Amino acid sequence: MSARRARQQRAAANARIQRTLDQAAAATPQFAESLGPIFEAWQVGPMLLVIPALRDDYPPEVKAAFDRRRRATLTGRCDCGGTRAARRGRVVHEHELDCPARDEAFGEICRRHAGLWKGSL
Ligand SMILES: [Zn+2]
Repeated sequence: MSARRARQQRAAANARIQRTLDQAAAATPQFAESLGPIFEAWQVGPMLLVIPALRDDYPPEVKAAFDRRRRATLTGRCDCGGTRAARRGRVVHEHELDCPARDEAFGEICRRHAGLWKGSL
């Protein structure tokens, strides 16, 4: 495959993903079903999202970060102003550097509390 053809295919894939994200952004998330104590399925427009459930036994800092991350996943918009978009054939969530829903910050918050509580993420 030529480099030009590969670029065209990546652009087409990104456009298809972005159309799906735009349809999801216009939809109201609907709870679909519980998948046990850890995960839930939500229908958001054309997307079925499986996300971690928000549990009452999480430490407050973990619960707040989880809540923000869940809402960003379900709506495509984060409290920090971040959004999601298609990049290189994948969905990428962008956040401000100080946002607790950003991958690195969220992981650090979970690691900080891992030894303090008996639950699992
Ligand atoms: Zn954010």
